[in-house]
Amino acid sequence: MSSRPLAQPRATAQPFVGCPMKNPSSLEELIESLRCLPGVGPKSAQRMAFHLLQRDHAGAARLGQALGRSLERIKHCERCNTFTEEDVCELCRSPRRDARLLCVVETPADMLMMEQAECFQGLYFVLMGRLSPLDGVGPKDIHLDRLIKRAEDGVVREVIVATNFTMEGEATAHYIAELLLARDIKVSRIARGLPVGGELEHVDSGTLAQAVIERRSLQAAP
Ligand SMILES: [Zn+2]
Repeated sequence: MSSRPLAQPRATAQPFVGCPMKNPSSLEELIESLRCLPGVGPKSAQRMAFHLLQRDHAGAARLGQALGRSLERIKHCERCNTFTEEDVCELCRSPRRDARLLCVVETPADMLMMEQAECFQGLYFVLMGRLSPLDGVGPKDIHLDRLIKRAEDGVVREVIVATNFTMEGEATAHYIAELLLARDIKVSRIARGLPVGGELEHVDSGTLAQAVIERRSLQAAP
């Protein structure tokens, strides 16, 4: 009786344990840094980083330099709080502006829009945000103490609140108005209404209702 060698048990497949794929640490840091931008999650941050490194070295270098320079030079205007490279911005220094009117806006972009509309000759105060208790943004974060001081300089005759007509913008406007009225400072709010060239049948009912509430009387031509 020949003894046949017993079949060797088959080796069970071992899972491959290799070095887990990881980005180099400087790339990881870049991706993490890009995530500080609003609305940028891990996936888009990674896409941006790959794009900069793979396809646009010159753009990436320019971005790095511009970011560094801005951080070094840009500060807030002592008077209106907007971004500037000087202590007091050009607009606040202009003798052609009417210092009796002070317009409160949320952001430097809003201030630029007002300037492009060429409808306002006064000066500004930029809140750099709006009250938002849920996000932890309180009166101090939007520099209301500085706004009050600015409005009480003895020259300002009227504060025009031009915050957005969002819930937070409206709450901010209300809060600012209370603070200023308590100090006997005249406050007004920009009006809501129909857009220029707008037709009643195409406008939303909220806007139309507001336009009716904020109607003004017409004067006979002199
Ligand atoms: Zn300024």
